[in-house]
Amino acid sequence: MIRASPDISMKIVTVLFGFVLALAARLDCQKTPILFQHVRLFDGTQITPDADVLIENGQVKQVGSNLPAENAKIVDGTGKTLLPGLIDAHVHVHGADTLEQALIFGVTTELDMMMSPRLEHELKSQENERRASFFSAGFPATVPGGHGTEYGLDIPTIILASEAQKFVDARLREGSDYIKLMYTAGATFGPRRREVPTLSKQTMRAVIAAAHERHRLAVVHIGSVEGARDAIEAGADGLAHIFHAGSSPKDFGQFVAAHHAFVIPTLSVAHAVCGPKSAGERLLHDPYLSPYLSRENISRLKDTFPSAYTGMVSCKGSAQAIPLLQAAGALIVAGTDAPNPGTTYGASLHGELELYVEAGLTPLQALVSATSAPAAAFHIPDRGRIAPGLRADLLLVNGRPDEDIRATRDIVAIYKQGHEVDRSGFYHSDHRKSPE
Ligand SMILES: [Zn+2]
Repeated sequence: MIRASPDISMKIVTVLFGFVLALAARLDCQKTPILFQHVRLFDGTQITPDADVLIENGQVKQVGSNLPAENAKIVDGTGKTLLPGLIDAHVHVHGADTLEQALIFGVTTELDMMMSPRLEHELKSQENERRASFFSAGFPATVPGGHGTEYGLDIPTIILASEAQKFVDARLREGSDYIKLMYTAGATFGPRRREVPTLSKQTMRAVIAAAHERHRLAVVHIGSVEGARDAIEAGADGLAHIFHAGSSPKDFGQFVAAHHAFVIPTLSVAHAVCGPKSAGERLLHDPYLSPYLSRENISRLKDTFPSAYTGMVSCKGSAQAIPLLQAAGALIVAGTDAPNPGTTYGASLHGELELYVEAGLTPLQALVSATSAPAAAFHIPDRGRIAPGLRADLLLVNGRPDEDIRATRDIVAIYKQGHEVDRSGFYHSDHRKSPE
C-alpha cells in the first residue's frame, strides 16, 4: 500500500518530522525497556504469527524472535496481537479531554481537519503521554458563508484565485500542518443544501497549487461524486470524505488511483447522515467500548443530524466505493469526522474499521487503513508501522483483529512512545450494564 514518495514528499517529511522531533523532546523518556514475547504482530502492513518486539526510550528497538530479555519488563504476548497505535485521519480536536478520549481507545495520533489555530498552539505546547498526538489543518479555505463558517468560529475566507498564496501562507504561519479546502459543489447534504456558496474550481486549484508550492498537502472536503472528481482533477492529494450518493461510478477507484490521491471515507459520519440507525448507536452496546465511554461520548454517539440537513441523501454509494478504491490500488485512509453527530473520539475509529469490512475490505486491509496508510498518505514517517527506530505507539489486543476486526476493541494495553496509558480512570462500571 505504501507508495514511493515523489520529490515534494521528502520536503514535507522533513517539515513534519522536525515538528515531531520537537514534540518528542517534551515527553518524559520511557524508563524501562519492554519486551513483548511470542506476540502475533501486525506491523502496519502484514502479519507475523509469532514475534518478539523490544521497545526502549519511546521507540521500537528490535523486532525478531527469541530477543534477549536483559533488564526489560516482559509482556507475554501469547494469544494477543500487537499493532501500531491507530491513526484517525479525520477529526476535529476540541480540547485536551478529546485527545485523552482518543488515546484510551488506542488512537495514538489524530489528524484534525479544522480547528482554531489558538487552541492548536495551546494543545501542541502541552503534548504529553496521556493525550493522543495530533496534526492540524487549522482554518480551512472556504468562501464567505461557505461550509466551515457555520460553527461560530471567526474564520478567514477566500474568493479569488489570486489570493490563494497569501491565504495559504497565512495558514502556515498560524501553524497548519496541511491545508484543508471546503468544496461543496453538487452536495445534497447541509443546512441550505445547494444554496451553500463554495470555492470556484479555479480558486480550489489555486489554493491546492499554493499549498504544493510550500510543500504541504491539500485535502478537500467534498459531498458529491461531481465534487470528488473536481477536487481530484484540481490536484488534491486526498479527499476528506467520500461522497454521499445512491451509487458509486464504477470507474471511481481507477480515477482516484490514476491521480495518486487518497480517500478518507468517514463512513461513521455518513451513517449518521443517511443510515436509519447510526453506526454510533452500535458502539454504545459494545461490551469492550461502552465501559470507557464518557457521558459526553455517549450523547455524541446517540446524536443525529437534524432532518433539515439530511433530506433525501443516500449513502449506498459511499460504501460501494470502498471495494472499488481497494481493487484499483487507491489509498484508503481511515477517518471518522468525530465529534459530529453519531461519532466520537477513539471509539468511532473501531466502528469505522468494521464498516470498511462490511463494505468489502478484509480485516487486514482495514487495519492498514488506520496505520501505515495514513502515515504514508500524510508523510509521517515515524509511526503507523512497527519497525526499529519508529515511535513505540502501540496497541496490544486479545485475539486476531486481522481475522475479526472487532478484536481491536478488546484492548489489553496502549503505549504512547513507550509509556503505558492508564485507562483505569476512564472505566465506568455503571455503563457496562446499561449504556443508555
Ligand atoms: Zn470534518
